[in-house]
Formats: sequence, structure tokens, C-alpha cells
Amino acid sequence: MKFLFDLDGTVTSQETLPCISKYFGCTEQIEELTARTIAGNVPFIESFIRRVNILGQYSVKETSDLLAQVPVYPQLAKFILEHAEDCIIVTGNLTCWCEGIFKKIGCQCYGSIAECENDKVVKIKSILRKETIVDQYKALGETVVFIGDGNNDLEAMRHANISIAVGLTHSPAQSLMSICDYVIFNEKALIRQLKQLLGICKPEKSVVISCAGIGSRLGLGLTKALVQINGGSLISWQLKLFKDVEDVRLVIGFQGSEIIEEVRKYRDDIIFCYNHHYFETKTGASYYLGARHANYETIEWDGDLLVHPDDVKMLLATDGEYICYGDITSEDSVCVHVNEKGEVLGFSRESGDYEWTGPACMNKKHLIYSSQNVFNMFEPFCPMRGIKVRAYDIDTYNDYLRVSEITKDWRL
Ligand SMILES: [Mg+2]
Repeated sequence: MKFLFDLDGTVTSQETLPCISKYFGCTEQIEELTARTIAGNVPFIESFIRRVNILGQYSVKETSDLLAQVPVYPQLAKFILEHAEDCIIVTGNLTCWCEGIFKKIGCQCYGSIAECENDKVVKIKSILRKETIVDQYKALGETVVFIGDGNNDLEAMRHANISIAVGLTHSPAQSLMSICDYVIFNEKALIRQLKQLLGICKPEKSVVISCAGIGSRLGLGLTKALVQINGGSLISWQLKLFKDVEDVRLVIGFQGSEIIEEVRKYRDDIIFCYNHHYFETKTGASYYLGARHANYETIEWDGDLLVHPDDVKMLLATDGEYICYGDITSEDSVCVHVNEKGEVLGFSRESGDYEWTGPACMNKKHLIYSSQNVFNMFEPFCPMRGIKVRAYDIDTYNDYLRVSEITKDWRL
């Protein structure tokens, strides 16, 4: 596995360009060009050439020394140094400007190439297209993870096996949201995800909350996570229930940006996992996408599910795999057959002893992709330990009214 990182705003905690232009006193020119580029009025390659035309007249050595001083994210820099053989920096910037910062980061780096004479840039020789470096490593049989934040990372992310859009320095470019696998806003959470990808996982359980659906049966025109219940969004209640869980992962799709905005009011270290095929898939796909690169054991949690706070505590403290069920309360429910030991024998739409409500806990080694329902993923592993809980899901408007009433006295 190879990790390819964009440099500006991804590894550095400040954008390098304003830093150079400020030093040489050409801020206005650079700012105008940057604004026009971001607005989509100047294509990236043209913008780059014009930028080099402005900055190329200044000392290459001074520029490199200056860039070497741009702060980098300390934990990320540490991760890169510790895994220097598997980390690569890919930047559109000129390598002659980046010599100092490349040395400081200490791994293989790629950039655009220029010819220099007398400490000045005289000619651009090549402009790096980041996706070519992705393809190069893929051709060697590597799984490539691309981590970036800008519009110029879009193609590289599209080519990569796994892509992470980061919003550490500023919000990731909107264009990345329609292709990336993960969105992460916090350095610690990013390191956690990178380590999990390397198989360095913690023994604690991850919680995967699936909020990708369109919530059509509820009829409020909102994805369920954003539905207001007793003065807060459904997702805000769930986040309170999981406040002591380190690795909380939210699978998003429909209204993903709105969910991100709501969640970040409460926590910044959530790992957002995209299910871009939310319209064609069911909860099984979302659970798979949320759990595939998490800790070994993951608790599967539907975005429309509220479980009594005491039962949540009990479930978080329970080791191993399990399936939860409750008394049958809703029409049109999926039921479970349970033996005298409380084990779940199977699922049925026709009859059963209890209602399958979720949550459930599964080890990653049992995780197989399914575009169907979560319970279909558990069927091959039955009989499985069953745990009875007070759980309520909100599928219809009547459920919504009923659950609002039940939960109004819950203290979190
Ligand atoms: Mg960037």
C-alpha cells in the first residue's frame, strides 16, 4: 500500500503560495489569479504557468528556504517519517522551490520541473499531473491511497484505489465530495484512518452509523439523521450516546454536506465514509463501506435508530459479535427466531419471536460486501449471540411520533 499526499494545505498547515507572494510583495497579483482559478475562470495548467511567470523572477534559493519554514501538521509529519517507504508527496509546485520542505518531510517527493539559471526560473520543463504518479504505483501492483484537499487532486483521487478528502486547513474542494471515499477534518482522525488502512487497529470497537439514505418512507424530505426529535437532530442524539467512542464513522450519501455541517457542531473527529451508490443499495452496502477500514470489530448502527442510553452503555461494554433484537412493535418488521439460550437462529419477514432492530456487532473478517440489507450479511453466521435491547427505529411518520414520545424523558 502506498500513501500519496498532496502538499499544500494537506501536509502543510498553511498554503505555501500566499506565504511566498507576501514575502516578495506580489500578493495582489497572486490573490487575483488564485481567486479566478478557484472560480473556474482560469484552467489549472494556465494558472500554474502564470503563477510561475510571476514568481519565477525571484530567487529560487530564497523561495525554497521560505517554503522549508511553512509549518506542517506534526502528527502527520511523524506518520510520514515513520512510514517513509510507503509515503509519497505529490505536488504541482516546482521541485526547485520545494527542495527545503521536501528534505524536511523526508520521503519520496514528486513535483513539476523547471530549468533554473543564476538562481532564477527560466523555463518550465514539465507540469506534474498527479494522476500519472497514482497510475505509476498502481502499475507496480500497489494499492494507492490518495490524500488531498484541492480541485487539482480530483483526477488523482479518481484514479486511486482509496481516496481521502481532508479539511484540515480549509474545507475540501466541493468537487471531491462526489468521488472520494472518506472526508476527514481532524489530524488525529486522519492518522487513525491511515493506521487502520495499514492494519494497525485498536482493540476497541468502532461504531458505524449509516445515514446515507433518502428517508423516503418518512416523508419529511430529509435524510433521517437530520430529522428533529425532542429539540435536536437524530444524529446529535446518537453522537451524545457515543461521546466516549473514539472511532465513530458516519456513512453519508444523500444530503452528505448537510450532515457533515450538523455533525461538526458536536465533534470534529468523525470519519465520514461516502456511499455514492446510496440510491441503488441498501444498508448492507453502507455498513460494509463504513466498516471495511475500521477497527477489527464494528458496531453497525442505523441512522434512524435510537436505543435506550443504559442499553447503549451495556452494548459498548460487551465483547465479541452479537445481534440485537427487541419486542415486536412495528408493522412490516423483520423478525428473528431465538433459541432458549437467546441465540439468533435466523431472520424472517413472516414470523418470529422478536423484532430485528439492530444494532449488531461483527468482526471485519466476517465482512462481505452486500448491496442488500444488513441482516443478510449476518445470516450466514447464525446462530449468533442475541441481546435484547430497547431499540426504536423511525421508518414512518407514525414511528416518528411514537419514538418522540418514548424518548422524551431520556437523559443523556
Ligand atoms: Mg492542497
